[in-house]
Amino acid sequence: MIGAIKFLPARTFAAVAFAVSGFVGLIAWGEYSSWRSQVAGIEAGLVQTAKALVQHADDTVDMARFPLAALITRIEQERDVVDMPAKITQVMKRQVDTTPWLDALAVIDADGKMVATSSSIDASGMNFSDREYFVFHQSSDMQEPVLGRPLKNKLNGQWILPVTQRISNPDGSFGGVALAAFILTELTSFFQGFSLGSEGSFLLVRRDGVVLARAPFLQTQLGSSISNYDLFTDHLRQRHSGSYHYVSPIDGLQRIGGFSQSERSGLVGLAAVSQSEALATWMKGARIRWIACLILVAITGFLVWRWRRQVMLRRASEALLVAREAEFRLLAEGSADLIQRFNGHGIREYLSPSVREIFGVDAETMLGTHILENLHEDDHGAVAEVMARLREGSTRENMIVRRKRADGKQIWLETTLNRLPGGTGGTDIRIVAVTRDVTRQKSLQEELDVLANTDELTQLANRRSFNIHFEDMVLQAAQQHAPLSLLMIDADHFKLFNDTYGHASGDDCLRAVSNVVRGSIRRSKDLAARYGGEELAVLLPDTNGAGALKAAENIRQRVAGLQLPHEKNLPWGHVTISIGTATFYPAAGAKLTTAELFERADYALYRAKNNGRNQVAAGGDEAARPTVRPEIKSV
Ligand code: GH3
Ligand code: MG
Ligand code: MG
Repeated sequence: MIGAIKFLPARTFAAVAFAVSGFVGLIAWGEYSSWRSQVAGIEAGLVQTAKALVQHADDTVDMARFPLAALITRIEQERDVVDMPAKITQVMKRQVDTTPWLDALAVIDADGKMVATSSSIDASGMNFSDREYFVFHQSSDMQEPVLGRPLKNKLNGQWILPVTQRISNPDGSFGGVALAAFILTELTSFFQGFSLGSEGSFLLVRRDGVVLARAPFLQTQLGSSISNYDLFTDHLRQRHSGSYHYVSPIDGLQRIGGFSQSERSGLVGLAAVSQSEALATWMKGARIRWIACLILVAITGFLVWRWRRQVMLRRASEALLVAREAEFRLLAEGSADLIQRFNGHGIREYLSPSVREIFGVDAETMLGTHILENLHEDDHGAVAEVMARLREGSTRENMIVRRKRADGKQIWLETTLNRLPGGTGGTDIRIVAVTRDVTRQKSLQEELDVLANTDELTQLANRRSFNIHFEDMVLQAAQQHAPLSLLMIDADHFKLFNDTYGHASGDDCLRAVSNVVRGSIRRSKDLAARYGGEELAVLLPDTNGAGALKAAENIRQRVAGLQLPHEKNLPWGHVTISIGTATFYPAAGAKLTTAELFERADYALYRAKNNGRNQVAAGGDEAARPTVRPEIKSV
């Protein structure tokens, strides 16, 4: 059952999860767009920088164009002048002095020997025929200035970028090379005017992939070829400017590069930044946003989880409650006993179906009725007390009460009332009562009680019952200051009756005498008992000595009036009895016990016998009473 309810809130949960993932998706999409536009901005900036680089390089080469052209014209015009080298040296020195980024100008003859130089360092005797530019011009008739590989000035050790132009002889044959050497650091310091961060770099590359300049300065790369890089093998084949992302082969950093190629010179500029550095500020802001978003999602997740758990727990406890209720009903409804639930006011809230069997009505009709309804009036007090005790904190009470069934029959009910846990007490309590019909047991009990207290032969109270009542009546008399009389009755010459008519007739005779005695006492509180043998006793509460004598005389006369034959009971010839009476007067202050009253009545009986039988004698004369029961004369 618990397993099944586990998935009940799943739909709502899915909706929340969907909303949260939608929210996260939106944030992610926003972040991606923001990242894209950041990168696009950086890329555009880099392309612009690369364009500026190339432009500057082109301008530099252009600037070399004029001094070189002037130099070559001079050489060609003054080819045959004797001190030509000295003259052009003067010219070159002036040029170099007025052009800050120009390191030196030089003229090399067709054999590679330096003919003239603006440099003050003596270069005579040095040979430049191994230089790349020399070899190039030697084999090419191109008349335009050419950018050479960066190299270290043989004269002053400074890194220079050579721009060279062919000198042709009048017949067009190779006549040497005019060279303008730019200070490489001048170029790179121009690059560094653009801020590309601590991990940014600039490259100026020749059309054929030869690295002409790099910032930051990196000697090993200068003059080397990067024609096998993506930039050349891929990007430049497609477009002249643009951007791309790559991992730097030099430092292994992820970079964003912007490139541009001059349509004029074919020079390629590349400006690159480290991606992580360029996006650092954005990343910092983004990280805060992501953390905030994560925290938000985590809090939402936690709240949803807790909410779901609470829903599950609540449902589980509800299910448990339903199961308990069902269990209780099953128990209650399967029971032969009547199960009822009352509120603190004693109103019925539930009755099990066995109410039909026990009360003779349906549960529905009984709902809302009061616990006292249809109960025997004599039991109302006891039930009210039980309810009061339960309200005051008692948890369990028992009671046996009488109730009128729907068919009018009175039944005895034995009920155990249990106070349910919970409730604040007083009328705020609930009670479960288990009731059993004990009418049969009660009547059996009563029958047994009667049997235990009745003499079988005479159907009068037996001696045991007599003793109990005697004690009670003496106590009551003392409490109420009312007189109590005792009559002791004995058949005359009954031994002779048995001897004459047989024991069975003796029994019949005893029954007849007993019936007379029973018939002579009218009040319910009077008690007639068989004291033993053929002796009977009668207790008369609220009866004084005179009353006792009168009652005794009445009994004696009625027995005699039966005229039961007893030939040996002379002189009468029929059954007679003798009676002794005694009366207890508590008002007199005498503290009488049952034994004393009995002895007085018994002594009176003895006197009645001795005075001739068939008579009544009243007890009371304490002094005359012997301590030992005297012998009765047997006349
Ligand atoms: P008295 O006039 O002096 O009383 O003479 P009595 O013969 O009656 O003497 P007592 O009271 O001492 O005798 C009791 C006799 O009653 C003895 C017994 O035979 C007889 N008796 C006692 N109980 C029963 C009984 O249950 N049934 C019968 N049939 N006889 C009984
Ligand atoms: Mg006797
Ligand atoms: Mg007798």
